[in-house]
Amino acid sequence: MTLDNIKEEIINAKDIVILTHEMPDGDAVGSSLAVYNGLKQLGKKVDVIIPEYPKNFSFLPGASEIKKDGKQDSYDLAIVLDCSDIKRLNGYANYFEQANKSINIDHHGVNTMFADLNFVNPVAPACAQILVTVLEYLGIEIGKEIGTCLVAGIITDTGGFKYQGVTAETFEFAANLLNKGVNISEVYRKVFQVITKEAFELRKIAIDRLEFFEDGKISFTYTTKKDEEDIKTSTGDHEGIVELGRDIEGVEVSIYLREIDNGYKASLRSTEYVNVADICLMFGGGGHIKAAGCNMQMPLEQAKEKIINEVKKYIK
Ligand code: 5GP
Ligand code: MN
Repeated sequence: MTLDNIKEEIINAKDIVILTHEMPDGDAVGSSLAVYNGLKQLGKKVDVIIPEYPKNFSFLPGASEIKKDGKQDSYDLAIVLDCSDIKRLNGYANYFEQANKSINIDHHGVNTMFADLNFVNPVAPACAQILVTVLEYLGIEIGKEIGTCLVAGIITDTGGFKYQGVTAETFEFAANLLNKGVNISEVYRKVFQVITKEAFELRKIAIDRLEFFEDGKISFTYTTKKDEEDIKTSTGDHEGIVELGRDIEGVEVSIYLREIDNGYKASLRSTEYVNVADICLMFGGGGHIKAAGCNMQMPLEQAKEKIINEVKKYIK
């Protein structure tokens, strides 16, 4: 049974590295810190490496110990969280490749099962929710600190407990954590509600540029590097922009292109029937049925045309 094997590897490992996907969201950071705090509880030597993350997660227990780089020699064990594909470890896959053993715990249906041990549950609405089972299996006590990290992950990936993927366990788990003193409303406000002034300015630009296609069933917007430079944004300030389009009446697919170093990062969201993970897979990306992304290394007009034409094929 995989959980037994995972337990065995963790017990045998002396030093462990925790990794997650690039451009980490609340599930990525929350899951990483939950496992970090849990393994510390077991007396392990652990490094959690996240080169950059949005500063609204810096209140999470253990965040001040996040490292930008790891140690030179290899780790006994690498644990990769919330990451569907080794390509998404962009820039620091070396810690994964050099580790003696690797574990991949995730909830993406498109996970490529890239590790020695893969524990993937595509039905779970957040990686953090899978970790409840995993941490308990390892005999780790989920108290206020770990609970805060896990709830941050769950809140992020369920859109604040409201997406369809939410299960009864999501609420049972949240109720248990409330009883343990986790301040869910505070976590909710910090990770999900409050945005920086710069994020607000970027949203204004994105809203101004938003266009509709296919009788209002597709919304499209974009931001450029220059916008971010002018506004002086920081990591994560673009989060939430793609949801603005999706929340408009009649929109089935919202598309947001964000200029990055070598082209555009596309974020897609759907409301009812379009599988955006399938669309993003066509462009070498992936994600979930209703939330997915991909990289498009081409100029804006070309990326816009390609992605809209592809989405149109799925609109009823
Ligand atoms: P977002 O639009 O918030 O960046 O990402 C939405 C979902 O799609 C997340 O679950 C994320 O992991 C996934 N995703 C985003 N970009 C990529 C990508 O380039 N490759 C893969 N495999 N998944 C992605
Ligand atoms: Mn996730």
